[in-house]
Amino acid sequence: MLAKVASATIVGIDAVEVGVEVDISAGLPGMVVVGLPDTAVQESKERVKAAIKNTGYLFPLRKIVVNLTPADLRKEGPSFDLPISLGVLAATEQVQVPGDLLFLGELSLDGSLRGVSGVLPIAATAKQLGKRGVVVPLTNWEEAKVVEDIAVYAFAHLQDVLHFLQDPHTYQEPVKAGSVNASVVHHSYDLREVKGQSHARRALEIAAAGGHNLIFVGPPGAGKTLLARCLPSILPPMTPEEALETTRIYSVAGLLQGKGLITERPFRSPHHSASGPSLVGGGSFPRPGEISLASNGVLFLDELTEFKRDVLDFLRQPLEDGFVTISRTKQSVAFPAKFMLVASTNPCPCGYWGDAVQPCTCSPKQREQYWARLSGPLMDRIDLQVLVTRLKAEEITSTATGEPSAVVRERVTQARQIQQARFAQEAAIRCNAQMQTIHLRQFCPLDDRGRSLLEGAIRRLGLSARASDRVLKVARTIADLAHSPSIQAHHVAEAIQYRTLDRFNS
Ligand SMILES: [Zn+2]
Repeated sequence: MLAKVASATIVGIDAVEVGVEVDISAGLPGMVVVGLPDTAVQESKERVKAAIKNTGYLFPLRKIVVNLTPADLRKEGPSFDLPISLGVLAATEQVQVPGDLLFLGELSLDGSLRGVSGVLPIAATAKQLGKRGVVVPLTNWEEAKVVEDIAVYAFAHLQDVLHFLQDPHTYQEPVKAGSVNASVVHHSYDLREVKGQSHARRALEIAAAGGHNLIFVGPPGAGKTLLARCLPSILPPMTPEEALETTRIYSVAGLLQGKGLITERPFRSPHHSASGPSLVGGGSFPRPGEISLASNGVLFLDELTEFKRDVLDFLRQPLEDGFVTISRTKQSVAFPAKFMLVASTNPCPCGYWGDAVQPCTCSPKQREQYWARLSGPLMDRIDLQVLVTRLKAEEITSTATGEPSAVVRERVTQARQIQQARFAQEAAIRCNAQMQTIHLRQFCPLDDRGRSLLEGAIRRLGLSARASDRVLKVARTIADLAHSPSIQAHHVAEAIQYRTLDRFNS
């Protein structure tokens, strides 16, 4: 007898329907799974067998063939345990499985259901396919509920799923555990704690307002890391579209841990020993890396020069395109990677070049080699280059607190609203930093004074075309923060100040 159960698998950050067909016939007892399954799916045989027996149902001692369709799509992970076990029970007429529900979940040997990754995109696909609902493990409940207008049934045990299928009216919604009010997110770091550093604070505000990449350069103890960690506290709230996109990425990466919609912008801070694949994504079934997990948020690279240069080179294309493509023989997938890059570094190997107190002990050759480690093309893609100096003694002992993040965030949010109106017709652009060269003529016209300032800077600092575009975008953001419809000469002048390293390098 043949049974069919609907399920799905993940491709990139999307889902594709997978049909689970189970045929039981006379023959040597045993179970085979066909249709490009990976190891985890193959191992599902043992889990399914044990779970069915331990739930008190009959596991047929006959020949069982499980076919996953479409056959040319590779299937991965343990999420087919539930649909396969339901297929076996349906093929032996122990339960009836409706075709308008989609099932996924990993089984323990005792029949309890364990959470799986990718539930959000799968629920979204089920809705597109016109399914009535999805049946998921209890831990994935809030994640599946993010998708509106589709029924979500969540269970802790195979036994509960079978009861539900026999008598759907008995289903009770789980009680939502400890819901978090998204509007009162507590940030661990606040600009209130940052003393002095008015130049760096201003740069951080501009970066947040326009979504610009930024690097802090300064001696150890100047507060570079603290400044960077304050960034999430001044970023504008996520739009519903951004929240859904980021949650989808975390769902595929299996990092939602029982939570629903992510409403706080991510802040990812990978260690400098991070490998290329962990940073940009990879694996035989491609998984999102740090740059995708930082999407619509911040990727913070502390001590940038400690990262391997070839690893940093992987960042160049995503920084330009806003996505990363991972190619495999069977399939090629694209993950979103719209992140703000924030980096910090010492100015030289000893850390004190340019410091007012401690002299630098490096040779010019050492400094040159140090800067060579930061590839020019990566620096070209950083809009704001900011020197952070050590605090003076009177600044350290001062009891005055800085302007709190909440106040800065209000200005940033207003500047973002101006940008949302500006880019209402441009689906791919959410903030000034995401403008391409073709948009600059339309959105960043300069008057004569502004243009001559920029031309002077191009000559004096040897700015590349890409770097000069970045000056324009930053000037646009500075004007937005000032609620100025046009870009004034002093906005351009301030933007040019943030090209410190072009001078450093030359
Ligand atoms: Zn030095």
